[in-house]
This record gives sequence, C-alpha cells and structure tokens, in this order.
Amino acid sequence: MIDRDRLARLRASEEDRFVEQHPRSAALAARARGGLLAGVPMPWMTRWPGAFPVSVASASGGRLVDVDGHEFVDLCLGDTGAMTGHALPAVTTAVAERIAAGATAMLPSEDAAWVGEELTRRFGLPAWQLAISATDANRFVLRFARHLTGRPRVAVMDWCYHGTVDESLAVLDADGRVVPRPGALGPQVDVAETTAVVPFNDLDALERRLAEGDVACLLMEPALTNIGIVLPEPGYLDGVREVTRRHGVLLVVDETHTMCAGPGGATAAWGLEPDLLVVGKAIGGGIPCAAYGVSVEIAERLNGPMLGHEIDVAGVGGTLTGSALALTAIRSTLTHALRPEDFEVAVPLAERFADGVAEVIAEHGLPWHVQRLGCRAEYWFCPPPRDGAAAAAAVDEDLEGLLHLWCLNRGVLLTPFHNMALLCPAHTEADVDRHTEVFAEAVAALT
Ligand code: PMP
Repeated sequence: MIDRDRLARLRASEEDRFVEQHPRSAALAARARGGLLAGVPMPWMTRWPGAFPVSVASASGGRLVDVDGHEFVDLCLGDTGAMTGHALPAVTTAVAERIAAGATAMLPSEDAAWVGEELTRRFGLPAWQLAISATDANRFVLRFARHLTGRPRVAVMDWCYHGTVDESLAVLDADGRVVPRPGALGPQVDVAETTAVVPFNDLDALERRLAEGDVACLLMEPALTNIGIVLPEPGYLDGVREVTRRHGVLLVVDETHTMCAGPGGATAAWGLEPDLLVVGKAIGGGIPCAAYGVSVEIAERLNGPMLGHEIDVAGVGGTLTGSALALTAIRSTLTHALRPEDFEVAVPLAERFADGVAEVIAEHGLPWHVQRLGCRAEYWFCPPPRDGAAAAAAVDEDLEGLLHLWCLNRGVLLTPFHNMALLCPAHTEADVDRHTEVFAEAVAALT
C-alpha cells in the first residue's frame, strides 16, 4: 500500500529541507563530532530523524525551541523524562534553592520522609529507596530478588525494555530460545544463562516457564510501552499475579512509562499487587532520579541485609543516589505535577490525539492502529498486536523515519524509535490538532 519509491523521494526532499532549516544545529553537530563519540553526548541521540539532531536552546511546558529559533510542539517530552511538561516553575525554584543550599552530602534531608510517604500514598507499597535512574532501580531490584529467592534467573516479557539492564536485553528467537536482543552490545553473560523470556498476554507460556522453578522474579511493564503500546488482555494481569504467587516468583512492576496511566501508575489505576515496583524518569522533574518500593513482606526480609555492615559494597545504592537535590526534585514534582488534576487535562488531549490519528488511518484504509494508555498514545503499522514479537514484526524504519522528519520539519517533535506522543497539561487542543493535520498531510503524500 505504501509506494516505496515515493517514500524514498519524499524522504530525500524532507532531508534537504531539514538541513536548510537548521544551520546552527548543523554547525554544532559538526563541531561535536570532534570531541564526542558519535558526535552526541548519548548514543540514542543519533536516532533522531535528519542528518543530525537539532540542538535544544530551551524548553518550557509542552514547547521546545532549538538553536535555530524554531519552536516545536514537543510530544517527545524527553522520552518521558519531562512527562510533567518542561521546566515547571515550582520545581525550578525548589531545585535552584536546593542547589544553592548544597546538592549532595550522602545524608538524608528534610524531604526524605515526605518522599517515602508520598510514594506509598500513590503506589500502595510501604517502603521505598531511591536510585539514579530506572535502569539503576531495576538492577537493584533484580539483585534483591535473586538474594531473597536464591534462584538464578529473571523472567521478562519478549521485546520488553527496562533500561540498560543486562538480563533484560533478551528476546525469543523463532525456535523459542532465549537470545540477545538484536543490537545488544557485548553481553557480559549469555542471556540464555540469566533470563527466561515469555510472550506478553500468554499465561500458559508463563505457567510453563515458571514451573521450572529457577526464576527469582518476573520484571514487567503492566502494558508494554517500548514496542508500541501493547495493552494487557482482560484477566491477564490477575493471572500473572496468581501464577507468580503460586510459583514463589516475585512480581516486579516497572511503572517508569506506565505512570502515564495516572498518579499511581497502572498499579493504582488497575489495582495491581506487585511485590516490588520501580518508577523513574519523570518523578524528578528532569533531575536524574528513580525509586523502588517493596511490599511489607519484602521490607521485613530486606531490613536485615539493608542494615548490614557491608551494604556499601553489596551492589545496591550509589554515591549521588537519594541526594538532597533528588529528594527536593521529587518532592516538588509530586507536589505540583502528575496529580489527578493534571491527568484530567492531559488524558483528554491524548484521547484527542488518538482520535485524530485513527480518523486519518481509517480515511486511507490503512492496516495501522493507534493505541493509548492514559496520557500516552502511539500509532503502529499493523492491527493491534497481542504481544511484543507481533509488534516488532511491524516495525518499518523507513516509514517511521519519514513521518518523524515530516513532523519535525513542520514543528512537531515525536519520540525517536517510537511513534509516540506524550501529552502534558501544558499542551493544548491546538497542539494536538497541529499534529493531526501534519500527520494527515504526510499520509496523503504517501498514499
Ligand atoms: N523502564 C522502562 C519501562 C523504560 O521505558 C525505561 C526507558 N525507556 C527504563 C526503565 C530505563 O530508564 P532510564 O533510561 O532512565 O534508566
């Protein structure tokens, strides 16, 4: 249905337009190639569409301005790092005051107790610790799970993403064997030794795998959000809880992205009962931090090791972790953002986004779909998949690249390696409609 020659021609003209419009970003990118590996401070930044990434000048609310002076409707929001909207004034003030009063002392600050209480109030788990990133939190949690169960393996969903966590960079091959995820660099240990992989939405496969008795925990997103959005089928998450309990496998819910479902993530929205929960990215208003919570039972079992004499070399925690700065960032963010009243604004905007995209898809009779979870929406080039492998089979990098570049050239930023829009309370209906209009033009040009 998509004419590939036409797609290539459109891409070439959009590439030229991008280069013409971004002379300052081009110059900065050329200079950065001198001192930065791959010319960027973090390798994923090479995955933005266009010959080089635009350099950001400033960002506020749902808008971002680049160094060439272009203003964008920012639907990427730092790939969820800025899910609250950029630069919330209350957070900016609180963080600036905290830096002026000392950012890090490896001591708790006045905000520490508040942060634990608020995370408990939102997610239900009674005891919390901080981490620098969601990756970091996931690594610690896997370590605790192996320690507590004495079992060697970690189970994850096929085509999941949980950060740069070695055990989780694994997928199933066509014969059902656990293999490194395509693209994973230098695995420290063969993932077949560390990881069990099961398809999402498949309780029988989970039952069979956990029955082998070697799995410490199941680490999962309650809806997959890193291979498009794949929602759980009715009853699936209840089944996951029942099966994991029955096999003595700890259930770790990673809410880093599914926090988009509401103030307490999918755990609160859907009444989940994880043993451990990880949340990261947005909770610090852009200051690097994450948190993990544990159930009463796990807290009781961990109190011993956590107070142990050698906890400083136990493989959990870190020097800048739980700093006064991070605690202030979380306190001010959770005081002023990601509250019910914020989702009441952002979710209808995401619904509007999804409705607009769905209409364009239907108008052109395309076999695509758009999925939404709270204030996050994403389109994908297939009918709604049931699991990650089906979603992965529909990845179309050329098509995605064109749509992203087309949007970027017309003032709308989408998340690279996703077709994802995250809506925050600072966005407007006009912002959403701008995307719909641009998306409709791109699809019309293509078909
Ligand atoms: N968990 C999930 C569900 C994620 O989507 C991500 C990042 N996309 C992470 C963990 C890791 O977050 P970070 O890169 O901030 O460590």
